[in-house]
Amino acid sequence: MVYIQNDENELATIIYHSDRLYGKDTMHVHADKHHVSLIKNITAYNKSFACDICHKLFDHHSHLIRHRKTCSDKMRLVYPGGFYTSGDSVFDELKHVGIVIPEHLRYSKFFVTFDFESVLSPTPRGQEPHDLTYTNRHILASFAICSNVPGHTGALCEIEREQSTLVVEHLHAIRETAIRENLVNFEWVFDHLEQV
Ligand SMILES: [Zn+2]
Repeated sequence: MVYIQNDENELATIIYHSDRLYGKDTMHVHADKHHVSLIKNITAYNKSFACDICHKLFDHHSHLIRHRKTCSDKMRLVYPGGFYTSGDSVFDELKHVGIVIPEHLRYSKFFVTFDFESVLSPTPRGQEPHDLTYTNRHILASFAICSNVPGHTGALCEIEREQSTLVVEHLHAIRETAIRENLVNFEWVFDHLEQV
């Protein structure tokens, strides 16, 4: 085990702890900035010892060793919001009120693919922080979108410099259609929910 001492030499803290236990054969080593030295008598080494994990203080080395066997990172971590547990999915919640969604309806069959091309454009100099230099920036040059959503199955290609919001608008429109198409399959669910 390797220890360091504070500036006043009043407190020793473990900085390295072997995963294996050697009992009385454990070697204790003192480390300072430039060298290490063997501690022959650990009880005389310091009157105060600190746990490197939870920083708890002990006035006997043997108490620290006993504590160190059970102290772990797990004990130090506090989760104010509790541990993560996966909550019920919307399908689980529907099941609680007697609505079972068939497996084939749990996944949307619709998808969109899209691709961008961009060009590099030199940036004006002199506005960056002193240790950072931006030489060019990517500017949207063209994009292509295609999907299997009814009404949007033809490939849409546009050459529109710097019109990146157009891409989002097109994707939004396709999404709206996909939602409408999907809702047709779930009308019975909404009807059922109104009666619950
Ligand atoms: Zn501890």
